[in-house]
Amino acid sequence: MIIDLSDILQSANKERTEEVKLSFSSFVSRLGDFPILTSAPIRLSIANQENKRLLIRGRVELEAEIACGRCLEAVPTPICFDIDRELDIQDGLVSEEEMEPTDYLTGFELDVDKLVYAELLVNWPMKVLCKEDCKGICKVCGANLNHAACNCQKTEPDPRMAAIQDIFQKFKEV
Ligand SMILES: [Zn+2]
Ligand SMILES: [Zn+2]
Repeated sequence: MIIDLSDILQSANKERTEEVKLSFSSFVSRLGDFPILTSAPIRLSIANQENKRLLIRGRVELEAEIACGRCLEAVPTPICFDIDRELDIQDGLVSEEEMEPTDYLTGFELDVDKLVYAELLVNWPMKVLCKEDCKGICKVCGANLNHAACNCQKTEPDPRMAAIQDIFQKFKEV
């Protein structure tokens, strides 16, 4: 969704609140392609502070499907964070120096999807487990060890091995 900011950028201390819905149904990054299962409408408050700064604030709450880092099973994962951006205003526009990292803003147009995408990149969970003590999958036969023990390993894996297994899984996901 595109929001036209011309009135806000050009009148000192003007404020507006917009309720926006995300228009993308999955988050695609170099980590993979993750379905967005649910997302709450975002109440974005946008304000011009003394013709000097543009403030963009809002809260993002969504649930994405992310594979467990050990067993690869899909885990519905809540992701919640605040957007809190401050940009310099110069002559009724966001200042040129701010433009490079802000491709979500072109002239008077705020692209909410691009803004949220940029925030998701920063706030994406580093590691997701289906449960704290997920047993992972057997490296030999590939069985999900949460469901049933396989016959490959008779002894309890060393916790250090579990860490190595995580790294191993990470390579497999890429
Ligand atoms: Zn798991
Ligand atoms: Zn096995």
